[in-house]
Amino acid sequence: MKRLPFILLTLLTSNLVFSQYWQQQADYTVNVTLNDKAHTLKGDIRIEYTNNSPDKLDFIWFHLWPNAYKDNKTAFAKQILRDKDGKSRLKAIRDKGYIEDLEFTVDGGKANTEADPENIDVIKVILPKSLASGQKIVIKTPFTVHIPTYSSRSGHLDQSYIICQWYPKPAVYDRKGWHQFPYLDQGEFYSEFGSFAVNITVPAAYVVGATGELQNADELAAYKSIGTNNNDSTKVIRHYTANGNAPTKTLAYKAANVHDFAWFADKDFVIRYDTARLSENTTIDVFTYGYETGTESWKRSVSFVEDAVRHYSSWLGEYPWPVAQAVEGPKNVMSGGMEYPMITLITSPGADDAKMDAVITHEVGHNWFYGILASNERQHAWMDEGLNSYFQFRYEAEKYRANSIFGDAIPAELKTAPIDQFMNSIYGAMLQLPMEEAIETPSPDFTSKDGYALVEYIKTAAWVYILENVLGKETVDQAFKSYYAEWKFKHPYPEDFKKHLEKAAGQNIDQLWALLNKKGKFD
Ligand SMILES: [Zn+2]
Repeated sequence: MKRLPFILLTLLTSNLVFSQYWQQQADYTVNVTLNDKAHTLKGDIRIEYTNNSPDKLDFIWFHLWPNAYKDNKTAFAKQILRDKDGKSRLKAIRDKGYIEDLEFTVDGGKANTEADPENIDVIKVILPKSLASGQKIVIKTPFTVHIPTYSSRSGHLDQSYIICQWYPKPAVYDRKGWHQFPYLDQGEFYSEFGSFAVNITVPAAYVVGATGELQNADELAAYKSIGTNNNDSTKVIRHYTANGNAPTKTLAYKAANVHDFAWFADKDFVIRYDTARLSENTTIDVFTYGYETGTESWKRSVSFVEDAVRHYSSWLGEYPWPVAQAVEGPKNVMSGGMEYPMITLITSPGADDAKMDAVITHEVGHNWFYGILASNERQHAWMDEGLNSYFQFRYEAEKYRANSIFGDAIPAELKTAPIDQFMNSIYGAMLQLPMEEAIETPSPDFTSKDGYALVEYIKTAAWVYILENVLGKETVDQAFKSYYAEWKFKHPYPEDFKKHLEKAAGQNIDQLWALLNKKGKFD
Protein backbone atom coordinates (compact mmCIF):
# COMPACT_ATOMS: atom_id res chain seq x y z
CA MET A 1 0.00 0.00 0.00
CA LYS A 2 2.85 2.30 0.71
CA ARG A 3 3.91 2.23 -2.93
CA LEU A 4 0.56 3.41 -4.22
CA PRO A 5 1.15 7.16 -4.05
CA PHE A 6 4.39 6.69 -5.99
CA ILE A 7 2.65 4.67 -8.74
CA LEU A 8 -0.14 7.22 -9.02
CA LEU A 9 2.37 9.99 -9.33
CA THR A 10 4.22 8.15 -12.10
CA LEU A 11 1.00 7.59 -14.04
CA LEU A 12 0.04 11.21 -13.71
CA THR A 13 3.42 12.38 -14.94
CA SER A 14 3.49 10.01 -17.90
CA ASN A 15 -0.01 11.10 -18.90
CA LEU A 16 1.14 14.65 -18.80
CA VAL A 17 4.11 13.90 -21.03
CA PHE A 18 1.96 11.86 -23.43
CA SER A 19 -0.61 14.59 -23.93
CA GLN A 20 2.00 17.22 -24.68
CA TYR A 21 2.22 18.00 -28.39
CA TRP A 22 5.52 17.25 -30.13
CA GLN A 23 6.78 16.98 -33.69
CA GLN A 24 9.99 15.86 -35.34
CA GLN A 25 12.34 18.39 -36.93
CA ALA A 26 14.20 17.87 -40.23
CA ASP A 27 16.66 20.57 -41.30
CA TYR A 28 18.03 20.16 -44.80
CA THR A 29 21.13 21.27 -46.67
CA VAL A 30 21.04 20.22 -50.32
CA ASN A 31 23.48 20.77 -53.18
CA VAL A 32 22.09 19.86 -56.58
CA THR A 33 23.22 20.27 -60.19
CA LEU A 34 20.92 20.10 -63.19
CA ASN A 35 22.21 18.40 -66.32
CA ASP A 36 19.86 19.66 -69.04
CA LYS A 37 21.17 17.24 -71.69
CA ALA A 38 20.79 14.02 -69.70
CA HIS A 39 17.85 15.43 -67.68
CA THR A 40 19.37 14.43 -64.37
CA LEU A 41 19.90 15.98 -60.95
CA LYS A 42 23.12 15.08 -59.18
CA GLY A 43 23.71 16.14 -55.64
CA ASP A 44 24.01 15.43 -51.97
CA ILE A 45 21.71 15.96 -49.04
CA ARG A 46 22.39 16.48 -45.36
CA ILE A 47 19.48 16.18 -42.93
CA GLU A 48 19.78 17.13 -39.31
CA TYR A 49 16.99 15.04 -37.77
CA THR A 50 15.82 15.83 -34.25
CA ASN A 51 13.79 13.24 -32.39
CA ASN A 52 11.34 15.29 -30.32
CA SER A 53 9.12 12.26 -29.76
CA PRO A 54 9.11 10.53 -26.37
CA ASP A 55 10.21 7.31 -28.15
CA LYS A 56 13.57 5.77 -28.98
CA LEU A 57 13.95 5.31 -32.76
CA ASP A 58 15.91 2.45 -34.36
CA PHE A 59 15.13 3.37 -37.97
CA ILE A 60 13.67 6.18 -40.07
CA TRP A 61 11.33 5.63 -43.01
CA PHE A 62 12.27 7.61 -46.11
CA HIS A 63 10.31 8.49 -49.23
CA LEU A 64 12.21 8.07 -52.52
CA TRP A 65 9.40 9.36 -54.68
CA PRO A 66 11.27 9.77 -57.99
CA ASN A 67 11.08 5.95 -58.09
CA ALA A 68 7.28 6.21 -58.52
CA TYR A 69 7.95 6.84 -62.22
CA LYS A 70 10.29 3.87 -62.67
CA ASP A 71 7.97 1.18 -64.04
CA ASN A 72 4.33 0.09 -64.37
CA LYS A 73 4.28 -1.73 -61.04
CA THR A 74 4.59 1.21 -58.63
CA ALA A 75 1.66 2.29 -56.47
CA PHE A 76 1.42 5.44 -58.61
CA ALA A 77 1.33 3.46 -61.88
CA LYS A 78 -1.39 1.22 -60.41
CA GLN A 79 -3.35 4.29 -59.32
CA ILE A 80 -3.41 5.88 -62.75
CA LEU A 81 -4.10 2.55 -64.48
CA ARG A 82 -7.49 2.58 -62.70
CA ASP A 83 -8.50 5.60 -64.79
CA LYS A 84 -9.77 5.36 -68.36
CA ASP A 85 -6.83 7.31 -69.77
CA GLY A 86 -4.35 5.52 -67.48
CA LYS A 87 -2.58 3.48 -70.14
CA SER A 88 -1.92 6.46 -72.38
CA ARG A 89 -0.79 8.54 -69.42
CA LEU A 90 1.75 5.88 -68.43
CA LYS A 91 2.92 5.53 -72.01
CA ALA A 92 3.48 9.29 -72.21
CA ILE A 93 6.17 8.99 -69.49
CA ARG A 94 8.86 8.27 -72.11
CA ASP A 95 11.77 9.06 -69.79
CA LYS A 96 11.34 6.91 -66.71
CA GLY A 97 12.06 8.56 -63.37
CA TYR A 98 14.13 7.13 -60.56
CA ILE A 99 16.69 7.93 -57.90
CA GLU A 100 20.01 6.10 -57.52
CA ASP A 101 23.56 6.34 -56.10
CA LEU A 102 22.23 6.52 -52.55
CA GLU A 103 24.73 5.80 -49.77
CA PHE A 104 23.25 6.73 -46.43
CA THR A 105 25.45 7.63 -43.51
CA VAL A 106 24.37 8.55 -39.99
CA ASP A 107 26.75 10.75 -37.98
CA GLY A 108 29.50 9.79 -40.43
CA GLY A 109 29.07 6.01 -40.17
CA LYS A 110 27.55 3.81 -42.88
CA ALA A 111 23.83 3.11 -42.41
CA ASN A 112 22.15 0.05 -43.84
CA THR A 113 18.81 0.28 -45.58
CA GLU A 114 15.90 -2.12 -45.88
CA ALA A 115 13.66 -2.09 -48.93
CA ASP A 116 9.92 -1.84 -48.42
CA PRO A 117 8.61 -5.12 -49.85
CA GLU A 118 5.63 -3.40 -51.50
CA ASN A 119 6.97 -0.06 -52.73
CA ILE A 120 10.21 0.85 -54.46
CA ASP A 121 9.66 4.49 -53.51
CA VAL A 122 9.77 3.81 -49.75
CA ILE A 123 12.88 2.69 -47.82
CA LYS A 124 13.88 2.15 -44.21
CA VAL A 125 17.18 3.64 -43.07
CA ILE A 126 18.44 1.58 -40.13
CA LEU A 127 20.16 3.72 -37.52
CA PRO A 128 23.54 2.26 -36.47
CA LYS A 129 22.70 3.35 -32.91
CA SER A 130 19.25 4.01 -31.38
CA LEU A 131 18.18 7.65 -31.44
CA ALA A 132 16.99 8.60 -27.97
CA SER A 133 14.19 11.06 -27.27
CA GLY A 134 15.48 14.63 -27.50
CA GLN A 135 18.62 13.67 -29.46
CA LYS A 136 19.61 14.57 -33.01
CA ILE A 137 21.58 12.87 -35.79
CA VAL A 138 23.00 13.92 -39.15
CA ILE A 139 21.88 11.77 -42.06
CA LYS A 140 23.68 12.21 -45.39
CA THR A 141 23.57 10.68 -48.81
CA PRO A 142 24.60 11.49 -52.37
CA PHE A 143 21.87 11.02 -55.01
CA THR A 144 21.20 11.06 -58.73
CA VAL A 145 17.66 11.69 -59.94
CA HIS A 146 16.65 10.76 -63.46
CA ILE A 147 13.89 13.27 -64.19
CA PRO A 148 10.84 11.64 -65.79
CA THR A 149 8.87 13.08 -68.67
CA TYR A 150 6.41 15.46 -67.03
CA SER A 151 3.01 13.88 -66.54
CA SER A 152 2.07 14.03 -62.89
CA ARG A 153 3.97 16.33 -60.54
CA SER A 154 7.69 16.15 -61.10
CA GLY A 155 9.28 16.04 -64.53
CA HIS A 156 10.59 17.80 -67.58
CA LEU A 157 9.18 18.70 -70.96
CA ASP A 158 12.26 19.12 -73.10
CA GLN A 159 14.28 21.75 -71.17
CA SER A 160 11.45 23.01 -68.99
CA TYR A 161 11.91 21.62 -65.48
CA ILE A 162 9.30 21.03 -62.78
CA ILE A 163 11.28 19.67 -59.85
CA CYS A 164 8.98 18.48 -57.08
CA GLN A 165 9.18 15.62 -54.58
CA TRP A 166 12.70 15.00 -55.81
CA TYR A 167 14.98 14.40 -52.81
CA PRO A 168 15.15 11.61 -50.18
CA LYS A 169 12.75 12.72 -47.49
CA PRO A 170 11.97 11.30 -44.05
CA ALA A 171 8.35 10.22 -43.59
CA VAL A 172 6.41 11.77 -40.72
CA TYR A 173 6.59 10.22 -37.29
CA ASP A 174 3.91 11.76 -35.10
CA ARG A 175 1.74 10.99 -32.08
CA LYS A 176 -0.10 8.34 -34.14
CA GLY A 177 3.09 6.61 -35.33
CA TRP A 178 4.93 6.37 -38.68
CA HIS A 179 3.28 7.64 -41.87
CA GLN A 180 5.40 6.20 -44.66
CA PHE A 181 3.55 5.74 -47.94
CA PRO A 182 4.26 5.45 -51.67
CA TYR A 183 3.74 8.38 -54.03
CA LEU A 184 0.22 8.81 -55.44
CA ASP A 185 -1.02 11.99 -57.03
CA GLN A 186 -4.25 11.66 -55.08
CA GLY A 187 -3.67 12.84 -51.51
CA GLU A 188 0.09 12.98 -51.49
CA PHE A 189 1.32 15.30 -48.78
CA TYR A 190 2.49 14.78 -45.22
CA SER A 191 6.01 15.91 -44.29
CA GLU A 192 8.11 17.08 -41.35
CA PHE A 193 8.77 20.77 -40.75
CA GLY A 194 12.26 22.22 -40.78
CA SER A 195 14.56 24.58 -42.58
CA PHE A 196 16.06 24.28 -46.05
CA ALA A 197 19.32 25.61 -47.48
CA VAL A 198 19.38 24.53 -51.12
CA ASN A 199 22.12 25.36 -53.61
CA ILE A 200 20.95 24.82 -57.19
CA THR A 201 23.50 24.79 -60.03
CA VAL A 202 22.04 25.31 -63.50
CA PRO A 203 23.33 26.45 -66.91
CA ALA A 204 23.60 30.26 -66.70
CA ALA A 205 20.70 31.00 -69.08
CA TYR A 206 18.03 29.48 -66.82
CA VAL A 207 15.56 31.47 -64.73
CA VAL A 208 14.71 29.62 -61.51
CA GLY A 209 11.76 29.95 -59.15
CA ALA A 210 11.93 28.01 -55.88
CA THR A 211 10.59 27.62 -52.36
CA GLY A 212 12.40 30.16 -50.21
CA GLU A 213 14.36 33.36 -50.50
CA LEU A 214 17.02 33.73 -53.17
CA GLN A 215 20.32 34.62 -51.49
CA ASN A 216 22.29 35.78 -54.59
CA ALA A 217 22.00 39.57 -54.42
CA ASP A 218 22.81 40.21 -58.10
CA GLU A 219 20.41 37.57 -59.44
CA LEU A 220 17.65 38.77 -57.08
CA ALA A 221 18.14 42.42 -58.12
CA ALA A 222 17.94 41.42 -61.80
CA TYR A 223 14.74 39.39 -61.23
CA LYS A 224 13.18 42.35 -59.41
CA SER A 225 14.05 44.95 -62.04
CA ILE A 226 13.08 42.75 -65.01
CA GLY A 227 9.99 41.59 -63.12
CA THR A 228 8.87 45.15 -62.31
CA ASN A 229 9.21 46.11 -65.97
CA ASN A 230 7.27 43.05 -67.13
CA ASN A 231 4.49 43.61 -64.60
CA ASP A 232 3.98 47.24 -65.63
CA SER A 233 4.76 47.26 -69.33
CA THR A 234 3.53 45.38 -72.37
CA LYS A 235 7.09 45.29 -73.71
CA VAL A 236 8.37 42.15 -72.09
CA ILE A 237 12.03 41.57 -71.25
CA ARG A 238 12.41 37.84 -71.55
CA HIS A 239 15.95 36.58 -71.63
CA TYR A 240 18.01 36.80 -68.56
CA THR A 241 21.65 35.78 -68.45
CA ALA A 242 23.69 35.97 -65.31
CA ASN A 243 26.63 38.37 -65.18
CA GLY A 244 29.94 37.15 -66.50
CA ASN A 245 30.75 34.35 -68.87
CA ALA A 246 30.54 31.39 -66.55
CA PRO A 247 28.64 28.51 -68.19
CA THR A 248 26.74 27.74 -64.98
CA LYS A 249 25.52 29.58 -61.90
CA THR A 250 24.75 28.38 -58.39
CA LEU A 251 21.66 29.88 -56.82
CA ALA A 252 21.27 29.64 -53.05
CA TYR A 253 17.82 29.49 -51.43
CA LYS A 254 16.87 29.56 -47.78
CA ALA A 255 13.52 28.72 -46.24
CA ALA A 256 12.45 28.30 -42.61
CA ASN A 257 9.36 26.61 -41.17
CA VAL A 258 8.49 24.65 -44.30
CA HIS A 259 7.99 20.95 -44.94
CA ASP A 260 8.68 20.79 -48.66
CA PHE A 261 10.95 22.35 -51.29
CA ALA A 262 10.11 22.60 -54.99
CA TRP A 263 11.80 24.44 -57.86
CA PHE A 264 11.15 25.28 -61.48
CA ALA A 265 13.68 26.18 -64.18
CA ASP A 266 13.22 27.41 -67.73
CA LYS A 267 15.26 29.58 -70.10
CA ASP A 268 12.07 31.20 -71.43
CA PHE A 269 10.44 32.28 -68.18
CA VAL A 270 9.01 35.80 -68.20
CA ILE A 271 9.51 37.13 -64.66
CA ARG A 272 6.89 39.41 -63.10
CA TYR A 273 7.37 41.10 -59.74
CA ASP A 274 5.73 43.38 -57.21
CA THR A 275 5.70 43.84 -53.45
CA ALA A 276 2.59 43.30 -51.34
CA ARG A 277 2.13 45.17 -48.08
CA LEU A 278 0.19 42.90 -45.73
CA SER A 279 0.29 44.98 -42.57
CA GLU A 280 2.23 47.83 -41.00
CA ASN A 281 5.27 45.67 -40.42
CA THR A 282 5.00 43.13 -43.20
CA THR A 283 5.74 43.51 -46.88
CA ILE A 284 6.41 40.43 -48.99
CA ASP A 285 7.88 39.87 -52.45
CA VAL A 286 5.55 38.47 -55.10
CA PHE A 287 7.03 36.84 -58.21
CA THR A 288 5.40 34.98 -61.05
CA TYR A 289 7.12 33.10 -63.88
CA GLY A 290 5.25 32.58 -67.13
CA TYR A 291 5.66 32.47 -70.89
CA GLU A 292 5.51 35.19 -73.52
CA THR A 293 3.17 32.94 -75.50
CA GLY A 294 1.23 31.92 -72.40
CA THR A 295 -2.33 32.63 -71.35
CA GLU A 296 -3.40 36.30 -71.70
CA SER A 297 -4.78 36.48 -68.14
CA TRP A 298 -1.34 35.43 -66.80
CA LYS A 299 -0.27 39.07 -67.33
CA ARG A 300 -2.37 39.83 -64.21
CA SER A 301 -0.94 36.87 -62.27
CA VAL A 302 1.00 39.00 -59.76
CA SER A 303 -2.13 40.89 -58.72
CA PHE A 304 -4.03 37.59 -58.36
CA VAL A 305 -1.31 36.18 -56.05
CA GLU A 306 -1.35 39.42 -54.02
CA ASP A 307 -5.11 39.41 -53.67
CA ALA A 308 -5.20 35.77 -52.63
CA VAL A 309 -2.50 36.33 -50.00
CA ARG A 310 -4.39 39.35 -48.61
CA HIS A 311 -7.73 37.52 -48.41
CA TYR A 312 -6.38 34.37 -46.75
CA SER A 313 -4.28 36.52 -44.37
CA SER A 314 -7.43 38.31 -43.22
CA TRP A 315 -9.55 35.17 -42.99
CA LEU A 316 -7.03 32.96 -41.17
CA GLY A 317 -3.85 34.71 -40.11
CA GLU A 318 -1.05 36.60 -41.80
CA TYR A 319 1.05 34.94 -44.48
CA PRO A 320 4.21 34.00 -42.56
CA TRP A 321 6.89 33.78 -45.28
CA PRO A 322 8.82 36.55 -47.08
CA VAL A 323 7.90 35.58 -50.64
CA ALA A 324 4.86 34.24 -52.54
CA GLN A 325 5.21 32.94 -56.10
CA ALA A 326 3.35 31.26 -58.95
CA VAL A 327 4.68 29.47 -62.03
CA GLU A 328 2.78 29.02 -65.28
CA GLY A 329 3.03 25.35 -66.15
CA PRO A 330 2.27 23.13 -69.08
CA LYS A 331 -1.18 21.62 -69.46
CA ASN A 332 -1.52 19.03 -66.73
CA VAL A 333 -3.91 16.14 -67.19
CA MET A 334 -4.40 15.92 -63.45
CA SER A 335 -5.38 19.34 -62.18
CA GLY A 336 -5.36 23.10 -62.59
CA GLY A 337 -2.35 23.54 -60.36
CA MET A 338 -0.15 22.17 -57.66
CA GLU A 339 0.90 23.63 -54.37
CA TYR A 340 4.30 23.86 -52.69
CA PRO A 341 5.35 26.19 -49.87
CA MET A 342 5.87 29.75 -51.16
CA ILE A 343 5.55 28.61 -54.80
CA THR A 344 2.77 27.04 -56.79
CA LEU A 345 2.41 25.59 -60.27
CA ILE A 346 -0.59 26.80 -62.29
CA THR A 347 -1.69 24.84 -65.33
CA SER A 348 -4.77 26.52 -66.76
CA PRO A 349 -4.07 27.39 -70.37
CA GLY A 350 -6.72 29.64 -71.89
CA ALA A 351 -8.34 30.61 -68.56
CA ASP A 352 -10.00 34.03 -68.43
CA ASP A 353 -9.29 36.44 -65.54
CA ALA A 354 -11.88 35.03 -63.14
CA LYS A 355 -10.84 31.42 -63.76
CA MET A 356 -7.10 32.14 -63.62
CA ASP A 357 -7.61 34.14 -60.43
CA ALA A 358 -9.60 31.25 -58.91
CA VAL A 359 -6.94 28.63 -59.73
CA ILE A 360 -4.12 30.87 -58.47
CA THR A 361 -6.12 31.62 -55.31
CA HIS A 362 -6.79 27.92 -54.68
CA GLU A 363 -3.10 27.05 -55.02
CA VAL A 364 -1.89 30.10 -53.05
CA GLY A 365 -4.52 29.18 -50.43
CA HIS A 366 -2.75 25.85 -49.97
CA ASN A 367 0.06 27.78 -48.29
CA TRP A 368 -2.38 27.85 -45.35
CA PHE A 369 -4.10 24.47 -45.77
CA TYR A 370 -1.12 22.15 -46.18
CA GLY A 371 1.88 24.52 -46.04
CA ILE A 372 1.20 26.04 -42.61
CA LEU A 373 -1.58 23.80 -41.26
CA ALA A 374 0.17 20.60 -42.28
CA SER A 375 -2.44 17.86 -41.94
CA ASN A 376 -2.10 14.34 -43.35
CA GLU A 377 -3.53 14.53 -46.87
CA ARG A 378 -3.29 10.79 -47.50
CA GLN A 379 -5.67 10.13 -44.61
CA HIS A 380 -7.73 13.34 -44.28
CA ALA A 381 -7.62 15.13 -47.65
CA TRP A 382 -10.66 17.24 -46.72
CA MET A 383 -8.57 19.11 -44.14
CA ASP A 384 -6.56 20.74 -46.89
CA GLU A 385 -8.46 20.38 -50.19
CA GLY A 386 -11.95 20.88 -48.74
CA LEU A 387 -11.30 23.66 -46.24
CA ASN A 388 -9.22 25.42 -48.90
CA SER A 389 -12.00 25.05 -51.50
CA TYR A 390 -14.46 26.65 -49.06
CA PHE A 391 -12.29 29.79 -48.94
CA GLN A 392 -11.63 29.68 -52.69
CA PHE A 393 -15.41 29.68 -53.33
CA ARG A 394 -15.79 32.59 -50.93
CA TYR A 395 -13.09 34.53 -52.79
CA GLU A 396 -14.66 33.88 -56.19
CA ALA A 397 -18.10 34.87 -54.94
CA GLU A 398 -16.94 38.11 -53.31
CA LYS A 399 -14.77 39.23 -56.21
CA TYR A 400 -16.63 38.01 -59.29
CA ARG A 401 -19.93 36.43 -58.20
CA ALA A 402 -18.43 33.40 -59.93
CA ASN A 403 -17.78 29.79 -59.05
CA SER A 404 -15.33 27.47 -60.82
CA ILE A 405 -17.56 24.42 -60.42
CA PHE A 406 -20.44 25.91 -62.39
CA GLY A 407 -18.61 28.42 -64.60
CA ASP A 408 -20.84 29.76 -67.38
CA ALA A 409 -23.87 27.84 -66.10
CA ILE A 410 -24.49 30.55 -63.46
CA PRO A 411 -27.59 32.55 -64.52
CA ALA A 412 -27.12 36.27 -65.25
CA GLU A 413 -29.53 37.42 -62.51
CA LEU A 414 -27.52 35.52 -59.91
CA LYS A 415 -24.35 37.34 -61.02
CA THR A 416 -25.82 40.60 -59.65
CA ALA A 417 -27.47 39.12 -56.55
CA PRO A 418 -26.36 39.99 -52.99
CA ILE A 419 -23.53 37.75 -51.77
CA ASP A 420 -25.64 35.74 -49.30
CA GLN A 421 -28.19 34.89 -51.94
CA PHE A 422 -25.43 33.98 -54.40
CA MET A 423 -23.75 31.64 -51.89
CA ASN A 424 -27.06 30.07 -50.98
CA SER A 425 -27.81 29.24 -54.61
CA ILE A 426 -24.30 27.98 -55.37
CA TYR A 427 -24.18 25.67 -52.35
CA GLY A 428 -27.79 24.62 -52.95
CA ALA A 429 -26.70 23.43 -56.40
CA MET A 430 -23.53 21.79 -55.08
CA LEU A 431 -25.52 19.81 -52.55
CA GLN A 432 -27.42 18.24 -55.44
CA LEU A 433 -24.26 16.81 -57.02
CA PRO A 434 -23.68 13.07 -56.61
CA MET A 435 -21.36 12.59 -53.64
CA GLU A 436 -21.14 8.87 -52.93
CA GLU A 437 -18.32 8.49 -50.43
CA ALA A 438 -18.05 9.98 -46.97
CA ILE A 439 -15.77 13.00 -46.56
CA GLU A 440 -13.72 11.08 -44.02
CA THR A 441 -12.41 8.55 -46.55
CA PRO A 442 -8.66 7.91 -47.00
CA SER A 443 -7.49 9.29 -50.37
CA PRO A 444 -6.40 5.94 -51.90
CA ASP A 445 -9.84 4.42 -51.18
CA PHE A 446 -11.55 6.57 -53.81
CA THR A 447 -12.02 4.54 -56.96
CA SER A 448 -11.88 7.53 -59.32
CA LYS A 449 -10.30 10.96 -59.34
CA ASP A 450 -13.71 12.52 -60.07
CA GLY A 451 -15.21 10.93 -56.97
CA TYR A 452 -12.22 12.13 -54.95
CA ALA A 453 -12.64 15.71 -56.21
CA LEU A 454 -16.42 15.78 -55.68
CA VAL A 455 -16.17 14.59 -52.09
CA GLU A 456 -12.88 15.96 -50.76
CA TYR A 457 -13.27 19.40 -52.40
CA ILE A 458 -16.96 20.13 -52.99
CA LYS A 459 -18.77 18.04 -50.39
CA THR A 460 -16.38 19.33 -47.71
CA ALA A 461 -16.85 22.98 -48.74
CA ALA A 462 -20.62 22.43 -48.62
CA TRP A 463 -20.23 20.91 -45.14
CA VAL A 464 -18.43 24.06 -43.94
CA TYR A 465 -21.26 26.10 -45.46
CA ILE A 466 -23.70 24.02 -43.37
CA LEU A 467 -21.58 24.77 -40.27
CA GLU A 468 -21.76 28.45 -41.19
CA ASN A 469 -25.57 28.27 -41.43
CA VAL A 470 -26.08 26.37 -38.19
CA LEU A 471 -23.40 27.95 -35.99
CA GLY A 472 -23.19 31.38 -37.61
CA LYS A 473 -20.57 32.75 -40.00
CA GLU A 474 -18.80 34.76 -37.28
CA THR A 475 -18.45 31.63 -35.14
CA VAL A 476 -16.95 29.62 -37.99
CA ASP A 477 -14.63 32.51 -38.90
CA GLN A 478 -13.51 32.73 -35.28
CA ALA A 479 -12.89 28.96 -35.16
CA PHE A 480 -10.70 29.10 -38.27
CA LYS A 481 -8.66 31.96 -36.81
CA SER A 482 -8.04 30.22 -33.50
CA TYR A 483 -7.35 26.89 -35.29
CA TYR A 484 -4.69 28.67 -37.36
CA ALA A 485 -3.20 30.40 -34.32
CA GLU A 486 -2.80 27.15 -32.37
CA TRP A 487 -1.84 24.80 -35.22
CA LYS A 488 0.31 26.86 -37.58
CA PHE A 489 3.54 25.00 -38.46
CA LYS A 490 2.16 21.85 -36.83
CA HIS A 491 0.37 18.62 -37.74
CA PRO A 492 -3.31 18.98 -36.83
CA TYR A 493 -5.80 16.08 -36.93
CA PRO A 494 -9.58 16.39 -37.45
CA GLU A 495 -10.26 16.32 -33.69
CA ASP A 496 -8.00 19.38 -33.28
CA PHE A 497 -10.12 21.38 -35.74
CA LYS A 498 -13.29 20.15 -34.01
CA LYS A 499 -12.09 21.53 -30.67
CA HIS A 500 -11.80 25.01 -32.15
CA LEU A 501 -15.27 24.84 -33.69
CA GLU A 502 -16.75 23.75 -30.35
CA LYS A 503 -14.86 26.41 -28.46
CA ALA A 504 -16.07 29.16 -30.80
CA ALA A 505 -19.64 27.81 -30.84
CA GLY A 506 -19.72 27.23 -27.09
CA GLN A 507 -21.49 23.93 -27.70
CA ASN A 508 -21.02 20.32 -28.65
CA ILE A 509 -21.12 19.81 -32.44
CA ASP A 510 -21.24 16.00 -32.58
CA GLN A 511 -24.23 15.98 -34.93
CA LEU A 512 -22.60 18.28 -37.47
CA TRP A 513 -19.34 16.38 -37.10
CA ALA A 514 -21.06 13.07 -37.84
CA LEU A 515 -21.78 14.41 -41.34
CA LEU A 516 -18.10 13.83 -42.16
CA ASN A 517 -18.86 10.11 -42.09
CA LYS A 518 -22.11 10.35 -44.02
CA LYS A 519 -22.20 8.63 -47.41
CA GLY A 520 -24.25 10.17 -50.21
CA LYS A 521 -25.88 13.59 -50.16
CA PHE A 522 -26.64 15.60 -47.02
CA ASP A 523 -30.44 15.74 -46.67
ZN1 LIG B 1 -5.99 21.83 -54.00
